[in-house]
Amino acid sequence: MVVSLDLSDPATRPQAQGVARAMEKPTLIGLTRGELAGALTQAGIVQDRQARMRAAQIWHWLYIRGVSDFAAMTNIGKELRAALAVHFSIARPEIVEEQVSGDGTRKWLLRFPPRGAGRPVEVETVYIPEEGRGTLCISSQVGCTLTCSFCHTGTQKLVRNLTAEEILSQLLIARDRLGDFPDADTPQGAIVPLEGRKVSNIVMMGMGEPLYNFDHVKQALLIASDGDGLALSKRRITLSTSGVVPNIQRTGEEIGCMLAISLHAVRDELRDELVPVNKKYPLAELLDACRAYPGLSNARRITFEYVMLKGVNDSLADARELVRLLKGIPAKINLIPFNPWPGSAYRCSDWETIEAFADFINANGYASPIRTPRGRDILAACGQLKSESERLRKTERLALEAMMIAGHGE
Ligand code: SAH
Ligand code: SF4
Repeated sequence: MVVSLDLSDPATRPQAQGVARAMEKPTLIGLTRGELAGALTQAGIVQDRQARMRAAQIWHWLYIRGVSDFAAMTNIGKELRAALAVHFSIARPEIVEEQVSGDGTRKWLLRFPPRGAGRPVEVETVYIPEEGRGTLCISSQVGCTLTCSFCHTGTQKLVRNLTAEEILSQLLIARDRLGDFPDADTPQGAIVPLEGRKVSNIVMMGMGEPLYNFDHVKQALLIASDGDGLALSKRRITLSTSGVVPNIQRTGEEIGCMLAISLHAVRDELRDELVPVNKKYPLAELLDACRAYPGLSNARRITFEYVMLKGVNDSLADARELVRLLKGIPAKINLIPFNPWPGSAYRCSDWETIEAFADFINANGYASPIRTPRGRDILAACGQLKSESERLRKTERLALEAMMIAGHGE
């Protein structure tokens, strides 16, 4: 029987909220193995001496088989499965919208339930298929505290940090939807070999500043890279930061993933304007932290992202200074054509200017791929993500389309 409650009726609201709260069960997704074992014993459904074994079984089902229902965990007895379902949840978040771009890029709008007294929140996750690999662009926060002047997310206030579960769920949903967990509900189901997976790489380049949500991002990435689970190589995980210097060293030491820096300007004066966190951690400090990043070598380089803004940061003098600044750092430079959004004050550099800039840095020994904008038609390109509280109104979408057609921002 389905019972629906009218939450708009003040007479039923307190009870209704009580029901909703009672239905919120703690999740088992995003916990370390030790935390998982602890949760089972604390709930009183598994004895101490069995906890590690049960945690290992559940871990296997969650991260190798991708199940989202305890009933599918067939090597666990019926009674325990039922008890697990009473105490915990392993459900996926709600997919509010899935869009597929003309170029195959996919964007999901996901809704996460309230945490504590808060409201449900929505974030965007993007999948970019490429020749020989597929990259998932994951969000770390709802909104962002920083206000980079060329970034759409930066116009949205920080609503909250995502939890480790919510960060990881973005990967689980993408794997569900793309078929990276085939036949997960049957014990005989095939396990997709590493080289056949749709999601081969992840980048923390969605909404938010990952280094302002360090602990949750760390926990999620350590689970994503656990060899006995989701098993993404740390060399295929890239965390992008606008330059939160104190957490750069920790990223290398505690997570051990690849690092990308949103540089975008080679002089403090301009960087203060484009990436305001630069006022706190100026270029010299940022580049010192990069030089000291653990594990750097020619095979493990830092990626420097550089958005091409017409007449702002795209001169050959800028390119020369960029090469000078990065001397001695094993680096790749990723040139990003600016992606427009309604109300943005910038335009993308002309194509010839971008090519001349790229040629100069190439001639000076740096690989400098120009990032092809992907999924622009569904607003899935870098810096275009923005969620629920201030999603684009239809009029804004039309304005954006008109801008694209007129060639602005190309
Ligand atoms: N907060 C992190 C990660 C998310 S942004 C960071 O700033 O690094 C991911 C990348 O997209 C960053 O390099 C960011 O500077 C870039 N970006 C933001 N807005 C953009 C836009 N409108 N066009 C192109 N790139 C953009
Ligand atoms: Fe935040 Fe990164 Fe956008 Fe800057 S570029 S506002 S740090 S998401």
